[in-house]
Amino acid sequence: MSPQIAVIGGGWAGLACAVELARAEQSVAVFESAQVLGGRARVVEKDGWRIDNGQHLLIGAYTETLRMMRLLKVSPKRLYSRPFFIHVPGELHLEAARLPAPLHLAVGLLRAKGLTWADRFAAIRLLRELKACRFVLNGDCSVSELLRRTQQTTRLRTLVWEPLCLAALNTPAARASAQVFANVLRDSVAASASASEMLIPKVDLTELFPVPATLYLSRQGQTVHTATSIRRISRDEYGFALEGDPWDRRYSHTVIATGPWQVPTLTQDFSELERLRAQLAEIPYEAITTVYLAYDPPLALPQPMIAQSEGLLQWIFDRGQLGGPSGLLAGVVSAAGKGLSREDTALQAHAELEKLFAAQHVRIPAPVWSKVITEKRATFACEPGVFRPISRTPVKNLLLAGDYVASDYPATLEGAVRSGLEAARTILRDLGVKPPSLFGLDEDLLRVQCLSGPLRWS
Ligand SMILES: Cc1cc2nc3c(=O)[nH]c(=O)nc-3n(C[C@H](O)[C@H](O)[C@H](O)COP(=O)(O)OP(=O)(O)OC[C@H]3O[C@@H](n4cnc5c(N)ncnc54)[C@H](O)[C@@H]3O)c2cc1C
Repeated sequence: MSPQIAVIGGGWAGLACAVELARAEQSVAVFESAQVLGGRARVVEKDGWRIDNGQHLLIGAYTETLRMMRLLKVSPKRLYSRPFFIHVPGELHLEAARLPAPLHLAVGLLRAKGLTWADRFAAIRLLRELKACRFVLNGDCSVSELLRRTQQTTRLRTLVWEPLCLAALNTPAARASAQVFANVLRDSVAASASASEMLIPKVDLTELFPVPATLYLSRQGQTVHTATSIRRISRDEYGFALEGDPWDRRYSHTVIATGPWQVPTLTQDFSELERLRAQLAEIPYEAITTVYLAYDPPLALPQPMIAQSEGLLQWIFDRGQLGGPSGLLAGVVSAAGKGLSREDTALQAHAELEKLFAAQHVRIPAPVWSKVITEKRATFACEPGVFRPISRTPVKNLLLAGDYVASDYPATLEGAVRSGLEAARTILRDLGVKPPSLFGLDEDLLRVQCLSGPLRWS
């Protein structure tokens, strides 16, 4: 029987996996329980507004995600790109220069407004110490501890490192893994100007990757079932059977690309996975809240994205400057605690914007529309020692993919895509099938670019 591969979950991990398998001419079917593809990075329609379930940001170091998009012919214009920057109104403007490493950061630090010389030296000290140990810590600890050991100034901690840690790991510095934070710094700000570039979607998240991935899969004759929930996986002599599969087929391989909390129900028939289920049940999660506020007449922020050093909203995005409707702002609360109701969250967010604009002597109107979306299990809590399984499971040909699968990265789109590719490549290796070329049609051109310097997105 020729291999038939099932992928459960149409998030970024599942779709990356399916595309890679289809590129290697394997037969693959994706099952997604929701009507919309994209999982935790998807579009939602509310009161006639097309918004994302959460404001996302990519960086140049997302090499596999960007490579997949390039393969799928997603236009780079769909991402607003800009050298790494942090703008805290009235307090800090730090922006990397478009120069080769390490000048991009050195010049950025020199030019930064709002940093003292002590802050600049402290930043260089942290990066130098991390470089000296090749970004491998002698035992993991919290990010706060790492910042203390490397004598970071209060200003640098509160305006730069702690907000970056929260944004990248979705875990407060006091609990976040210093090793994972070091990995992120290694591959972004410490790597090169292009790796640290900030890329903000100008189209909705489903349009950015899941739709092009699905179009590619259907052109290759593969199937993507939406609104199709798989309830449980079992195995008989013909292969894996998926309860909920409208075709009631048998699959030679199954990739579970759901959230980790959904794996135990799906795998309850497999006694070999008892330990894995218990370990997955222990994973702690962090929430993310996104507050959308629409203003008419439109409000415009001084930058497409700003940070706040205090208050509820850590980052505020001006969707109007990012390809969206003018006047629509998105405020992000990472590692969002319980506490405020949706109404109070929207009121507080508006009050913070009032204060921000009042500092410029501008009175703002009440928002004409607001929406608060909280994803309770946005990411796993990226703490030292948190359990992250490998892709292979003790059940032959049953694999895991998802942002929580073991990797250098915290729970991110890049982590999800990489895990999907890894699951696909494991299957291809087992089948003795040559993996598809890294670059697709423009392979020769891109190879030349690779040899002549870092591969850039655009
Ligand atoms: C609000 C928010 C903001 C974020 N911000 C960023 C950011 O700025 N940058 C960044 O890189 N990352 C960010 N992330 C993290 C990123 O979105 C996730 O890491 C990534 O989307 C996870 O993808 P995944 O494919 O591993 O899992 P998921 O997206 O959870 O995909 C799993 C899919 O499986 C489906 N499914 C589950 N059970 C079944 C079943 N039984 N049958 C069929 N289908 C099933 C689900 O519906 C879902 O579509 C953010 C996440 C959130 C929630």
